[in-house]
Amino acid sequence: KRRRTLSVEQYVEGVLNGDRATIARAITLVESNSPKYFHKSQEVLRLLMPYTGNSIRLGITGVPGAGKSTLIESLGTKLCDRGHHVAVLAVDPSSSVSKGSILGDKTRMEKLSKNQQAFVRPSPSGGTLGGVSRKSRETMLICEAAGYDVIIVETVGVGQSEITVRSMVDFFLVLMLTGAGDELQGMKKGVMEIADALFINKADGPNKQTAENAKAEYNRLLHFLQPATQGWETKAYTISALTGNGIDDMWNIINKYKEKTLKSGVFQKRRQNQLSEWMDSLIEEQLKRDFYENPYIKEILTDTKKKVTEGTLPPAQAAEKLLSEYNKNK
Ligand code: GDP
Repeated sequence: KRRRTLSVEQYVEGVLNGDRATIARAITLVESNSPKYFHKSQEVLRLLMPYTGNSIRLGITGVPGAGKSTLIESLGTKLCDRGHHVAVLAVDPSSSVSKGSILGDKTRMEKLSKNQQAFVRPSPSGGTLGGVSRKSRETMLICEAAGYDVIIVETVGVGQSEITVRSMVDFFLVLMLTGAGDELQGMKKGVMEIADALFINKADGPNKQTAENAKAEYNRLLHFLQPATQGWETKAYTISALTGNGIDDMWNIINKYKEKTLKSGVFQKRRQNQLSEWMDSLIEEQLKRDFYENPYIKEILTDTKKKVTEGTLPPAQAAEKLLSEYNKNK
């Protein structure tokens, strides 16, 4: 069925009224890869900007099976019961690489998806991490303007996407498992360095003691690392997403963090830096795209690369030559 196109004003009004259908369409608009919609979506965002920011933005990462969706379902439902409005977004660039999503095609967070105070949006499909993250950031702003005061951004603990999610949230938590026997070795130091808290999940039943031991071990290790957020000590905790044990504490920790960083100004400063870094990365991406899509560059790139790989042309000289050709042929 054909739907009437909405005007910029209709998008803005619908989002500000919290109208779910319009919110979904506004997100589809910013997710569009078509240049035709770019200016319209940016105009909608510009008008929504004054209504954004009034939220806590949480990033959650963890390997597949760590319990992310169980946790989000449980935490999200609790928060809705307390009157919060919760939006759940995902950053999953894997779909463009493997043609399948790591976050899964199964219906996740079924209960939360049906909650009238929650909005669960799957990862935008296709495209690079840069593309996916731009869309998720803009979706986050739309959700905030629509009145969602808790934004949860989920990602799978593989590679670069964790850094990307860290760069769009206030509080970043890592969900972990024990019992694999190699928890500390398997745990990348990199992700511990960007985390505001580590939560060891599935601390229930026979696994409870193992989880407590792991917590102590992580806390020893964290002691030697620079915390991700100035003035905040990153610690390890245990939870059970399944029984709900520790989830209230998790929310208290997040609130304490918000209070503390708001008071010190670290919270606001991080958000400002995130906006400016976001702009920088958009410029970098655009420049890169313009370069590689330039017809003349396309023509000479393969040959130049061949010379570089054969060792007859130094890479730096090749790069300089290509860039100067690009500037001449823009
Ligand atoms: P995700 O891939 O990180 O989203 O993980 P899921 O939330 O889908 O959880 C993977 C599996 O672990 C599911 O079978 C869950 O029921 C189970 N699970 C999640 N959290 C807990 C927990 O706290 N305790 C136990 N025992 N199982 C859990």
